[in-house]
Amino acid sequence: MVFPSDKRLSRGRAAVIVCGRTDCRVCVSACGFSAIGSGEGGPFSDPDKCVGCGGCAAICPDGAIRLFRDRGDGSYEVTLPWSGELPGEGSCVNAVLLPGSEPAPARVIQAVPKRSGHALLRVAADSSAIRKMK
Ligand code: SF4
Ligand code: SF4
Repeated sequence: MVFPSDKRLSRGRAAVIVCGRTDCRVCVSACGFSAIGSGEGGPFSDPDKCVGCGGCAAICPDGAIRLFRDRGDGSYEVTLPWSGELPGEGSCVNAVLLPGSEPAPARVIQAVPKRSGHALLRVAADSSAIRKMK
């Protein structure tokens, strides 16, 4: 997993991929910015090429991709795939902020309805808690 620096995340959203699959290249093909490479350990994103469009997170069949942005107030904005009814802005949800971690509380900033793949939810969550999940 490549987790971008806070300096990079303060400039805008960047994808984080937590996946060891070598039999699936859906995200690699979906990224129009050549920001996802694949290696023996699975796919990885290049924070310097990623523009934070979220296409890979919406299309991943395993829900293994998140986007992070440093909000500058001790919290990260996290973009994650969401199935089921979309919660309203300002509501609190329990969300898997990093694939493989336990669900944690977060506040909804924006719901992005499904275009292809999954709908996306943008939430705000404590950045120090997320750092401990890495
Ligand atoms: S967020 Fe967009 S630019 Fe970044 S890796 Fe995913 S598809 Fe590529
Ligand atoms: S699309 Fe998802 S499951 Fe497929 S390689 Fe990428 S991160 Fe892994």
